[in-house]
Amino acid sequence: MAFTLLSISRLDKADYKVIFHKQMCIIQDPKGHTIATIPHSEGLYCVVASTQTKNGHHANAAAEKMNINEAHWKLSHVSSAAIKHAVSKGLITGINLDYSSKPEFCEACAKAKSARQPFPKESHTQAQKFGEHVHWDLWGPALIKILNGHCYVAARIDDATCETKLYFQEKKSETFGSYKKDEVLRFLFLHTLFFFELYFELYLIGTTIS
Ligand SMILES: [Zn+2]
Repeated sequence: MAFTLLSISRLDKADYKVIFHKQMCIIQDPKGHTIATIPHSEGLYCVVASTQTKNGHHANAAAEKMNINEAHWKLSHVSSAAIKHAVSKGLITGINLDYSSKPEFCEACAKAKSARQPFPKESHTQAQKFGEHVHWDLWGPALIKILNGHCYVAARIDDATCETKLYFQEKKSETFGSYKKDEVLRFLFLHTLFFFELYFELYLIGTTIS
């Protein structure tokens, strides 16, 4: 029997009798034959049918096949393989599982059973030198454009010194151009610094010798 709920009013309309007596619900057909005897159980009258198995009335609720996705949702997102194993070994009863059904992507599992660790709150790999490691971020579009039409801001942040350089842009697509410009400026700055340091060292050597 596929149904676990019976409508008393429909039985009455069909000229069936329903008798509640001594914790039992007895259903009789129009000829007075008893077709079902339903015991009271935990506040409900659970159907006892002629197809009842040794596992009790729970078997009646599972005549319709349940696909693996429904079983996965109803069993609190247990893995499909574990459900198939448990049902086939009789560890879970009351489920007529459709073994041919294929598991589908479950968004709840993807979010709740993430295999990767979340990003740490702070980095332990901070760069030591200026220019060694930089971060880029793009903000916009601003609701109000500034006078020259710029409404995006690309920001380059140096990991070691936290120096921030801003590039104002009209379009998102200009970000790579801003990056190239920044690379050239950083290259010039670093090499200017190098030659300045070299010149300074040579100057010191010169003063020491004289
Ligand atoms: Zn799931």
